[in-house]
Amino acid sequence: MKTQPLTLWWVRNDLRTDDNPALRWAAERGEVVPVFIAGDATLRPLGGASQWWLHYSLQALGQGAPLHLTQGAAWAELPRLAKVAGASAVVWSRGYAPDEIAQSKAVKAALEQAGIEAHSVHGNCLREPWEIANAEGAPMKVFTPYWKRVLAAGWNAPESAPTVTWRSLAGGLALADLGLLPSQPNWAEGWNEMWQPGQAGAHARAEEFFTLGLNGYGERRNRPDLPNVSRLSPAIHFGEVSVRRLAQLANQRAAQQPSLRSDADKFLSELGWREFAHHLLYHYPTLPTQNWKDGFNSYPWRNPATDPTAAADLRAWQRGQTGYPFVDAGMRQLYQTGWLHNRVRMVVASFLIKHLRIHWQHGEAWFWDTLCDADAASNAASWQWVAGSGADAAPYFRIFNPFGQGEKFDPNGHYTRQYCPELALLPNEHLQQPWAAPALVLKAAGVDLGTTYPHPIVNHEAARAAAMAGYEQI
Ligand SMILES: Cc1cc2nc3c(=O)[nH]c(=O)nc-3n(C[C@H](O)[C@H](O)[C@H](O)COP(=O)(O)OP(=O)(O)OC[C@H]3O[C@@H](n4cnc5c(N)ncnc54)[C@H](O)[C@@H]3O)c2cc1C
Repeated sequence: MKTQPLTLWWVRNDLRTDDNPALRWAAERGEVVPVFIAGDATLRPLGGASQWWLHYSLQALGQGAPLHLTQGAAWAELPRLAKVAGASAVVWSRGYAPDEIAQSKAVKAALEQAGIEAHSVHGNCLREPWEIANAEGAPMKVFTPYWKRVLAAGWNAPESAPTVTWRSLAGGLALADLGLLPSQPNWAEGWNEMWQPGQAGAHARAEEFFTLGLNGYGERRNRPDLPNVSRLSPAIHFGEVSVRRLAQLANQRAAQQPSLRSDADKFLSELGWREFAHHLLYHYPTLPTQNWKDGFNSYPWRNPATDPTAAADLRAWQRGQTGYPFVDAGMRQLYQTGWLHNRVRMVVASFLIKHLRIHWQHGEAWFWDTLCDADAASNAASWQWVAGSGADAAPYFRIFNPFGQGEKFDPNGHYTRQYCPELALLPNEHLQQPWAAPALVLKAAGVDLGTTYPHPIVNHEAARAAAMAGYEQI
């Protein structure tokens, strides 16, 4: 009997079978062994929350396919496994972060040397970062014209999951051996009730969002107390659902119900911001590590490594103990759930950078560790956007008012009270500024500032003035 050619599908951030061009390529060639490689030291190590997500996403993929798990450098593991399995090709979805690109290049070279076909494909964006350029062929630096060009260029329609003849490979590690789950302490307790990592969970979430959440998304996406955002970011980051599939679902909903057209367009443009972040990271690989605008190099940041007050402020921010309830609710939501609403991400980031004058890289690193959707491109681009140091960024002097934002975007206080239960009994008009509440009101609500809830770690007006004085220096 003639055996079919065997391909290793090297699973990266494309943990799905639907609309997966890499898997389709392998399946059309013959038999397929899916392989996941953990712990490649050439990549930035995943943060704790992302590791938690990855564990369950691998588990979900492994339920429908004989996923072979291994550990080590991809350039060494893939030729080794291809030889063991008798595979004549390896295929994978391209990544665009500098460490992912370097990893792919090393893998390609090693496979070619071993006489094994290496094939990388486009799978995780609407368009590849280099496909969109300005009239002179240069990278784009402003979102609106960039997105217009993506819309004009269009993208391929998503493809359904292929029929695959799987082959399993003996050996391999057990999922638990990868050590992705937290143990002491298990800070992710209860996360399984909140999240369903994996393709099925992603599709269920998308279905729920497009049915119930899309209506009003354009406005309500700013309200952390309302269920009008998709919460699909971890699933999108790990490629459990393709962005082309999501774009198609959004367009289908708008076609069924034309009144949803502007909400669907807004949703598509948010996917566009993700594309733009990948475009920027591809063309400016130092985006996660350096100010995109050099001028910010001379900003007088307070350094937590050398200044104990700055270190204490950074810790208070991380723990949701700044004394600004909306900021604290956000930082606690992040730590307790591995995710944070976009509006609140902007507010807490602005607070760290401008009210505390701590470099955005400290915030980027904390988000990297605590977000299930931590993404090299979106995280770095967004932090630089808030800092004012990025491409098409918010101007530095746009300093979010941390209590004004709470009053505006959490008008009934539901969100703030959920994560700051010690303030639950404060009436709405005092909830975001407990320091200004009359003593009797605080007493009646059981709030003892400095004991049950902190005093503000900085004064808003003074912090604003200091931030602006720092800005004058650059
Ligand atoms: C300081 C800061 C750090 C951030 N870090 C990350 C990160 O590490 N990973 C990440 O995926 N997003 C990041 N974002 C962007 C955004 O906050 C999240 O993508 C969004 O909140 C995810 O929630 P959602 O899935 O409900 O979004 P929805 O509103 O439902 O949007 C749908 C999808 O569009 C994409 N998207 C939406 N807004 C943005 C945006 N501003 N930039 C890039 N993509 C976007 C996401 O993939 C998201 O899942 C960051 C934003 C800020 C301000």
